[in-house]
Amino acid sequence: MNAPEPTKVSHPESKAYSILRLKCPRCHKGNLFSVKNAYNLKRVLDMPDRCPVCNQDFRIEPGFYTGALWVSFPIIVLLAVPLWILVFWFADFSFDMMFLLFAALIIGLQPPIMRYSRAIWIGVFVKYDPGK
Ligand SMILES: [Zn+2]
Repeated sequence: MNAPEPTKVSHPESKAYSILRLKCPRCHKGNLFSVKNAYNLKRVLDMPDRCPVCNQDFRIEPGFYTGALWVSFPIIVLLAVPLWILVFWFADFSFDMMFLLFAALIIGLQPPIMRYSRAIWIGVFVKYDPGK
């Protein structure tokens, strides 16, 4: 018997791998963001102009990442709706409490959501190319 296959997500060639690890969509090796910590708020969206490994352009065109806003909204919905249902089902919170809880949660998760949105957005336009 062979060792179990690694899951798809951890597979370095999968799109999910580059997105979840915030890697360059082309080589899956270079980091998309200059600073690892998403809660370093001054530098949360600092990206190098080009991939340090394969030289892929991370800027693509002026305003390129405006489109990432269209990705962050569904991410927030995907996180919030099941959570809302769970909390609604199992906790006896008033609507105001729920609203405050979710506002705090979504604001708190904003830095990583913004980063993942950018990683997904650039991943839509740049294809994986491991090079030679
Ligand atoms: Zn690269």
